[in-house]
Amino acid sequence: MNMMPQTVVTPAHPRIIAERPVKIVARDVNVYYGEKHAIKHLSIDIPDRAVSAFIGPSGCGKSTFLRSINRMNDTIPSCRVTGDITLDGRNVYDRDLDVVQLRANVGMVFQKPNPFPKSIFENVAYGPRIHGLAHNKTDLEEIVVNSLKKASLFEEVKDRLNAPGTGLSGGQQQRLCIARAIAVNPEVILMDEPCSALDPIATARIEELIDELRQNYCIVIVTHSMQQAARVSQLTAFFHLGNLVEFGDTDEVFSTPQEKRTQDYITGRFG
Ligand code: ADP
Repeated sequence: MNMMPQTVVTPAHPRIIAERPVKIVARDVNVYYGEKHAIKHLSIDIPDRAVSAFIGPSGCGKSTFLRSINRMNDTIPSCRVTGDITLDGRNVYDRDLDVVQLRANVGMVFQKPNPFPKSIFENVAYGPRIHGLAHNKTDLEEIVVNSLKKASLFEEVKDRLNAPGTGLSGGQQQRLCIARAIAVNPEVILMDEPCSALDPIATARIEELIDELRQNYCIVIVTHSMQQAARVSQLTAFFHLGNLVEFGDTDEVFSTPQEKRTQDYITGRFG
């Protein structure tokens, strides 16, 4: 970890941030792909039990920062992260940290639904089984059913749990992927444009689900849709050219942005 003095960016709306318990803290985070400086001196406090949306033009670093929270960038050889990211005070880049456990604690849902080529049941049962969360078959069934219920998919699939997950509609597959993440008891769910491959009806269902899930999880969603950010999030972070320009209460970011770059983006002047 970088032991140099750190630049701490004051959140744009400290009053709002202070009212919520903080789950993820990033301080002076830089992410590089080889020579490319993709995230620049980023500091942010992400609250628990709320939806934080990352918005900004394509290529500004939203996914890069999202993936650095659960160390998905570790799989990219040219990628290097400096600075500190903590989850409940624990450094996620600590050498002794179990990355498999981290990715269970910090689940991820991707742009394109990616169920395993297995049954609906097995898609959800796989994680709890490898993490040893079920003592017996009944336990496992209970975890699967509860996870499908929490992902608001159970009613639609309860009669065909042994059917392939890949046979579901796109929206159902995405809810299956959310159920799969939920099954290993995450605290944080990262979503990288989870609706971009879905039609408006399936998108609306996922947005409703996100709204329910925020009661129990810290949710961070990257979205290219400002409308979606406005609909689903309580906090919005605006990224531009690798910088976090502004982070605060969603209503305020959209109605009275503090930075001109945010204003220009949300009024459609660039992006
Ligand atoms: P966003 O999610 O805002 O569209 P990204 O985080 O995907 O932005 O990308 C930020 C910058 O990092 C872009 O310039 C992109 O080209 C670069 N980048 C992203 N992933 C990689 C990678 N695997 N290798 C090299 N450069 C990358």
